[in-house]
Amino acid sequence: MSKPKFQTPAGMHDILPEDQGYYQKINDVVKNIADFYGFEKIDTPILENAELFSKGIGASTDIIDKEMFVLKTKGGDFLALRPEGTAPTVRAYIEDGFANLPQPIKLWYSGPFFRYEHPQVGRFRQFRQFGFEIFGEESAVIDAQMIQIFYNILRELKLKNLVIEINSIGDSQCRPYYKKLLSNYFRSRESALCADCRRRLRENPLRILDCKDEKCQPVKAQAPQMIDHLCEFCHKHFKEVLEYLDEIGLPYRLNPYLVRGLDYYTKTVFEIFPESTPTPKMVGTPNRSVGEEEAVSKLSALAGGGRYDVLVKLLGGRDTPACGAACGIERIVGLMKAKAISPRKEVGFDIFLAQLGTLAKRKSLKLIEEFRQEKVMVAESLGRDSLKAQLARANKLGVKYTLILGQQEALENRVIVRDMKIGRQESLKLDKAVHEIIKKIKNK
Ligand code: AMP
Repeated sequence: MSKPKFQTPAGMHDILPEDQGYYQKINDVVKNIADFYGFEKIDTPILENAELFSKGIGASTDIIDKEMFVLKTKGGDFLALRPEGTAPTVRAYIEDGFANLPQPIKLWYSGPFFRYEHPQVGRFRQFRQFGFEIFGEESAVIDAQMIQIFYNILRELKLKNLVIEINSIGDSQCRPYYKKLLSNYFRSRESALCADCRRRLRENPLRILDCKDEKCQPVKAQAPQMIDHLCEFCHKHFKEVLEYLDEIGLPYRLNPYLVRGLDYYTKTVFEIFPESTPTPKMVGTPNRSVGEEEAVSKLSALAGGGRYDVLVKLLGGRDTPACGAACGIERIVGLMKAKAISPRKEVGFDIFLAQLGTLAKRKSLKLIEEFRQEKVMVAESLGRDSLKAQLARANKLGVKYTLILGQQEALENRVIVRDMKIGRQESLKLDKAVHEIIKKIKNK
């Protein structure tokens, strides 16, 4: 079969009706948890000033360097399709006056994000994320609670064997010295690094710790670790985060090389992975080779986040400690499918309305509206004329009753009610039909 002329752009996909239940289930769980922990929802524009991201995320990060979709408006402004949700939320926190309200401010969001990445399993150019942010709290307990919230969401969605990887990347007191150490270390081994990392060495040596290239792994494994060089304050903060996690019994693993792909983090950073996931079937990727399966485990971080105490100030606000995280929705859907976790069930239909003839069709429209007002779910095939076809559809939908409005009934203002299980039929007055049907449904 030839390919259709128009297809979704590379790395982007339709969310088909059969998959909507997964997305709705995730949204329900996220909203319930957001409500419970006192987070309020915020929606920010899909497009933002490109500088918001280059300044916030960091000019030498992959997201800014290679992955941002930027467009120039007719007015000459540079706008970017948002690659992540924290910088826009911080922009809103400053712009919309949240800083003047009693702190902390707790916000959550959900929606599409865009990165010009190499499309592969679990990695898209348009993907959905939900995220939570807390402004105005510096205590380590908040970092632990943020991790707990994301862990709870994933557990609530029935995902098991989750592992939290955690690290501290220090702050402006201790990180510059560590960066220098790291620079010296990698400079003395520059020839053993991949081309990208040789560039990263000049721009931001921390990024090398993020590199997935095989060539860099042995060099990386011997590199100095941030946790050995934390200042007293960051050390205490990190220790407390781990103690809180111990207290609530969350399964974490220290990963001294976890730095995350965004520059705005300070102190705690974390990611959540599904441990030893056999082969999550990711959305939009029907068949994969063994090599690709390996790639899945590397790409399987479900959520990531951390503390970002300097970002609000960096983007023009007051000095405000903050902490947050985001989770990839497609990756959760992929895992739910792989684990046969059921999506949200659609609300079923209570009855089916079959009709025959023009007058009946006309009366059907009115009758359907009456049922809708009473919150009775009515299925129909108004475009069809054959009774046989309509009854077949009613059977397929599994409704308990079918209403048949034939030409005769339409003239007499009556309607036939057929009990689909036992096949018994009775005739009702049309103006009593809604009331009678509600009685029948309630008695079932
Ligand atoms: P980040 O914003 O990079 O910290 O990513 C947070 C989470 O979003 C990741 O753990 C993934 O689950 C998801 N994610 C990030 N980038 C992509 C992408 N290109 N495609 C699908 N999911 C993504």
